[in-house]
Amino acid sequence: MIRIAVANQKGGVGKTTTAINIATALAATGWRVLLVDLDPQGNASTGLGIGHAQRDLSSYDLLTSSCTVEEAFVPTRVPRLDLVPATVDLSGAEIELVELPERTHRLDNALASTPPGRWDVCLIDCPPSLGLLTINALVAAHSILVPLQTEFFALEGLSQLLQTIERIRARFNPELSILGVALTMFDRRNNLSAQVADDVRACLGKVVFDTVIPRNVRLSEAPSHGIPALIYDHRCSGSEAYIALARELIARMPKRAVAA
Ligand code: ADP
Ligand code: MG
Repeated sequence: MIRIAVANQKGGVGKTTTAINIATALAATGWRVLLVDLDPQGNASTGLGIGHAQRDLSSYDLLTSSCTVEEAFVPTRVPRLDLVPATVDLSGAEIELVELPERTHRLDNALASTPPGRWDVCLIDCPPSLGLLTINALVAAHSILVPLQTEFFALEGLSQLLQTIERIRARFNPELSILGVALTMFDRRNNLSAQVADDVRACLGKVVFDTVIPRNVRLSEAPSHGIPALIYDHRCSGSEAYIALARELIARMPKRAVAA
């Protein structure tokens, strides 16, 4: 099971929207996908229509108890897409984890004990911080998908994320790679968006995906209906962009994983 963390410590940059729609696109192409909601806000869970009554066991239990992924996941209405939901308890986990053994490896351990072949890919939707929750995600992940909002301060804060990745590589997870940077909320009518996209490409080079996710109201409407935009309106510009992004993402994945 290839594990991808969707991370950026800035809030509101499109992590959850990207996680939900990439997960849906991969499931649509036949992959068995597990999405782990690691944000106490639980937006990925809500956006996939998993209400609070269905969150008996959650990513909090995965991190703080001997609960297994097999016990904690719930199926979503998207075929082949399963979810480990998040609850507000998770906001306490940052503190509780400090006291627990292997505090940086709790998610890694939980994912390592899933039955081989049960899921092909695991996406981890990270919270907007670089605390122990995100560290657990980066220790558990093979690679990182970084959504970057196409706005003036896009690159601000990225160096902090890159430093954290370096530290995780040095201490825990030498194989951790950046799968790619996805530009989100691109506004075609705004010259600044184009300028920022050019600057980001000039600065980061080929790690930036060719596909740019446009600002699209359908993407922001879909979560309130509890379904991914890709199903809510698969023809809107946002959905089309996420399908193209998923294609690029698959092309960048290790061959071994694609064959799985
Ligand atoms: P994060 O998980 O990084 O905090 P979200 O994916 O939740 O970011 O996005 C923040 C807000 O912006 C949400 O209300 C979401 O619906 C909206 N949004 C995300 N991507 C787009 C987009 N491409 N176009 C329009 N709205 C978007
Ligand atoms: Mg989010």
